[in-house]
Amino acid sequence: LTVLLPLLLCVIAFAGLLLLSIPIRNVREPPSYKYGIVLDAGSSHTSMFVYKWIEEKENGTGIVSQHSMCDVHGGGISSYAENPSEAAESLVECLNQALKDVPKKRHPITPLYLGATAGMRLLNLTNPAASASVLSSVNEMLSKYPFDFRGARILSGQDEGVLGWVTANYLLENFIKYGWAGEWFRPKRGTVGAMDLGGASTQITFETASQTEDPANEVRLQLYGKSYRVYTHSFLCYGRDQMLKKLLAGVLQRHSTHPCWPVGYSAKVFLKDVYSSPCTSAQRPPDYDVSAEVTLSGSGNPILCQQLVSDLFNFSSCSFSQCSFNDVFQPPLSGNFIAFSAFYYTMDFLQKVMKLPVTSTAELRTAAKALCNESWEKLLELAPSQKSRLADYCASATFVHQLLVQGYRFDEHTFPRIAFQKKAGDTSIGWALGYMLNLTNMIPAGQMHFHKGTDH
Ligand code: AMP
Repeated sequence: LTVLLPLLLCVIAFAGLLLLSIPIRNVREPPSYKYGIVLDAGSSHTSMFVYKWIEEKENGTGIVSQHSMCDVHGGGISSYAENPSEAAESLVECLNQALKDVPKKRHPITPLYLGATAGMRLLNLTNPAASASVLSSVNEMLSKYPFDFRGARILSGQDEGVLGWVTANYLLENFIKYGWAGEWFRPKRGTVGAMDLGGASTQITFETASQTEDPANEVRLQLYGKSYRVYTHSFLCYGRDQMLKKLLAGVLQRHSTHPCWPVGYSAKVFLKDVYSSPCTSAQRPPDYDVSAEVTLSGSGNPILCQQLVSDLFNFSSCSFSQCSFNDVFQPPLSGNFIAFSAFYYTMDFLQKVMKLPVTSTAELRTAAKALCNESWEKLLELAPSQKSRLADYCASATFVHQLLVQGYRFDEHTFPRIAFQKKAGDTSIGWALGYMLNLTNMIPAGQMHFHKGTDH
């Protein structure tokens, strides 16, 4: 014992010294996230967004951001009208990714939504039975997953517009902002308007103090204790792909070559692809041959292309004090705007690939014209990776110019107030986040307590 006891004391003292030499830190629990999944079933394709947020115990104002996303291969769900089960099957790869992106123990409490937009609105108009079968097949597939599935629905154009506006302003922290001193406050700056150019429809939404002459365009929202009066309109058939179909129908009626396609480019056009859409029904010849195809070549004529695009809009009739186009009421534009999806893709192409400035309406017009004058060979050399889209950028740029300037009436003062961007931080701008925030009641309507607890 006389030998062992001092030895034991030595060992204890040494261990104590070792422990003291290790710096002691206050180790915090890693934040525990909650998750939500939205499938954005657009007309051209479906994207899956996984969102995450830290549950704020005191007032439920966890800031939601995008955790991950997945692009579904193949076309939009409306393109499976003749084979609805394949619409469901197409989603499997992304849903399997969601199983990995969301921690397993969170699966049963993770809400999962599918929202379909203008592609399905169009299918619902032409073939309601097919639209119902597509929805029921995706419903069935989504219910098989271990998430808290809350349904697959078709959004109205008004919902799509307003939810895009909610997403943009939520991400830009225009409703409430978390201050450096650890408190929530309402920023003095106003909200931004939102413009979305999808494949089958386009939406414009902004806060207005003006009288809304058509009640169909007015939405009142109560967010964090403040009321917002918002003007919104969705133009069905004025999305990028449907606009291109309407142009093709115009070319087939009046021209032998396509003035918006570049010189040196030619393609086969299947009449059924052009005329099967309800957006071209007015231009459809009564007895056209469903199986016929024609070969069209590009003539790269910016003036004729402008005329063709201009024929898509009716600027002459307005039953209100003022209109955008097609007899649709629009109050005066106000505030800054954010323009996303194909607005962004088109402007990005003009700037990054064509190296053309687009900071004013005049510059945009000149840039569209310059693009329309480029040959197919030159375009291919500039952006070989975009081969499948290249021929249509002249039409897209001409359309974006006319929609913004002649349609919505942006001028030299208001045009520079538009930011063309597809993300805010790491989160994509679109209706999907607003949809989830709304359906999970994550934006309280009433006055919130402008106080926040511990930061993580
Ligand atoms: P989305 O925002 O995916 O609904 O697409 C809206 C329109 O933009 C559709 O006509 C798409 O074909 C087109 N589009 C999608 N991605 C791109 C891209 N990377 N570049 C150019 N156009 C695109």
